[in-house]
Amino acid sequence: MILLDGVTKKYPGDEKPALDGVSLHIEPNEFVFLVGKSGAGKSTLMKMITKEENPDAGKIIIGGIDLDYVKKRHIPGYRRRLGVVFQDFKLLPRRTVYENVAFALEIAGMSGKDIRKTVPKVLELVDLLDQAKKFPDQLSGGQQQRVSIARSVARQPKILIADEPTANLDKLTTEEIIGLLKRINDFGTTILVTTHNENIVNTLQKRVVTLKDGKIVNDQKNHGIYKLDETPVPKTPVRTVQTPGHALRPHRRVIQ
Ligand code: ADP
Repeated sequence: MILLDGVTKKYPGDEKPALDGVSLHIEPNEFVFLVGKSGAGKSTLMKMITKEENPDAGKIIIGGIDLDYVKKRHIPGYRRRLGVVFQDFKLLPRRTVYENVAFALEIAGMSGKDIRKTVPKVLELVDLLDQAKKFPDQLSGGQQQRVSIARSVARQPKILIADEPTANLDKLTTEEIIGLLKRINDFGTTILVTTHNENIVNTLQKRVVTLKDGKIVNDQKNHGIYKLDETPVPKTPVRTVQTPGHALRPHRRVIQ
C-alpha cells in the first residue's frame, strides 16, 4: 500500500540528508506509528508520500501509483486520493462544519445529491452531527480535529496519513482522536501517524517505526512500543492490552 525503497532526500543548503536510504513497506490495513526525535525526518517522510517534496534517490509507490510518474498537474488529484490530517487542522474559517466537509467533496467532483447524502453520515461517524452549523472557531481543538478527519475520510481514502494530529490537544482529546483513527483503521483504511506521544503508542501496541537521523533504526511489526533509537527493548513489561484490528480484514467502507 505504501512502499518506499532506498529513499534519500537532502534539502538544499543542509549538510546531512533529512532521509537517508529509507526503505519501508506498509501493507493494506496496517496502523503504523512513525516516531523519532525532532529533526529525525518524520515530516519529510510524510511529504514524500504527499509529493510535497521529491526524493533525490529511491522509489515511492503509494496505492499502486509510482510517484515518479505523477506529473505536476496531477499532484492535486493524486493528493485527493489520500486522506491527510494535519496538526493545525487546516479548516476553512469562514465555512461551517458541514460546509468544510461538503467543500472537500465538491472539489473531488461529487454531485450535490451525493454530497447531501455523505456529509451527515461522515459527521455522524466523528460524532459532530449536532455541531454541523457551527464555524471552526466555535469548536474545541478536539472537535476541530474531528472535522478535519471527517473531511479527509469523506472521500473514502484507502490511506490516511496524519502528521502529529494530536500535538495541540490535551490528553483526553488525544485519546479520543486516536480512538477515532483506530476505528477508521478497523474499517480497512491504512493509517500512518507521526507522534511524540509515548502513552498512546504504548497503549495501542501497533507497528512502530523509528526514524533517527534520517534512517529507520527500528521497525517493531507487532505490539510496538515507543522507542527513539536502536537500543534493546527494556525488560520491564509495558501494558499488554491486546487490541483487535491486527488481522487483515476485507476492506469495508467507513461510511456505509
Ligand atoms: P521531523 O519531522 O522528524 O522533526 P523533519 O523532516 O522536519 O524532521 O526534518 C529533518 C531534517 O531536515 C532536519 O534536519 C531539518 O532541519 C531538515 N529540514 C526539514 N525541512 C527543511 C527545509 N524545508 N529546508 C531545509 N531543511 C529542512
